[in-house]
Amino acid sequence: MTSGRDLLEGLAHLTGIRNAQRLECSLLKTLDGIYESAHIWAIALDAEGRPKSLHSFDRKHDAVTTVPFDRSHQPLPDGLLEQALRTGEAVADIDDAGRRVSVFPMSGLNEFSICLAFAFEGEEASESLDGLLVQSFLSVYRNFVRLIDDAQTDELTGLLNRKTFDDNFRELATLERSVHRPGLVEDRRQEPNPDETQIWLGVIDIDDFKKINDSFGHVYGDEVLILLARLLQQSFREHDLIYRFGGEEFVVLAEMAGADMAAATFERLQRAVADYTLPRVGRVTTSIGVTQLRPYKTASAVLDEADQALYYAKANGKNQVCLYDRLVAAGAIQRSTIQPGEIELF
Ligand code: GH3
Ligand code: MG
Ligand code: MG
Repeated sequence: MTSGRDLLEGLAHLTGIRNAQRLECSLLKTLDGIYESAHIWAIALDAEGRPKSLHSFDRKHDAVTTVPFDRSHQPLPDGLLEQALRTGEAVADIDDAGRRVSVFPMSGLNEFSICLAFAFEGEEASESLDGLLVQSFLSVYRNFVRLIDDAQTDELTGLLNRKTFDDNFRELATLERSVHRPGLVEDRRQEPNPDETQIWLGVIDIDDFKKINDSFGHVYGDEVLILLARLLQQSFREHDLIYRFGGEEFVVLAEMAGADMAAATFERLQRAVADYTLPRVGRVTTSIGVTQLRPYKTASAVLDEADQALYYAKANGKNQVCLYDRLVAAGAIQRSTIQPGEIELF
């Protein structure tokens, strides 16, 4: 069974990765069309700039083939890739089979950096390789990847933005659907099976934020938003997804094994915020509404549940975490009644 971790891992940049992969595919395809007699590879680098995987364009299937990068079985002359990475310059050498191999590095894109490698049989063919043209293609690729990344994140906090939430949620719904088979309407409200993937969504809203802005000014308000973003990043794991929804509202999607763990995790965040003293603004608190994702719930239904729990937290003293299912079980709020016909399966 696919675990929650599998579902969430990599989702953080899923949209970006998919788009970057599409870009890489079109880059390789274009170059393949220009240099028909060459073998062309893209070597993807990890965040530390180490080779991660080897990609090539497969004409027959009109797709990119990817294999893990294996230092001892890679197609380039020894040390050539390392030299390109070290110098940041294009380098070339003759390999054991007498082919001329050129490597063009591109860095500065964290997880999306690549090197392009070309192998030509014979000196004559290799002369057709236009270094400037290849560099131009790489610049265009880099600019597009940056655009994708900018479009996904919030400028002030660097967290993911609302649009990315919508994209990720759609993706998550598709993955969840492949794990769970939505049952009959009557089956849908069963208690969560503890062995099943549990993904929780929390909406975090700063208490009395308007007062902070009014008393200290917007710049100090922004400082609070940046602090909250940092505490959020510290409170959750790398593969959990953290978004700024706009204004002073944040959303987290995280895998947690059960309601107790979900409550404890969000309470730890809520306390971390409350315990922090900002130099000028002083103390700030948050209210948090939490609910569990289920395959039959749409994004708006999940957000609505978390919002109801948040609203309850606000109306009952703020600076606290409320779980939707617990409020319903305690009779504190009514479960929203959705007619089966209105349930929109993903
Ligand atoms: P509550 O405890 O009920 O959440 O009250 P609140 O004052 O936090 O909530 P309300 O929604 O009334 O006010 C939100 C304020 O957030 C209003 C707006 O001025 C401020 N705000 C929205 N976006 C930003 C931003 O990017 N920077 C700053 N500094 N303030 C923002
Ligand atoms: Mg608000
Ligand atoms: Mg608020």
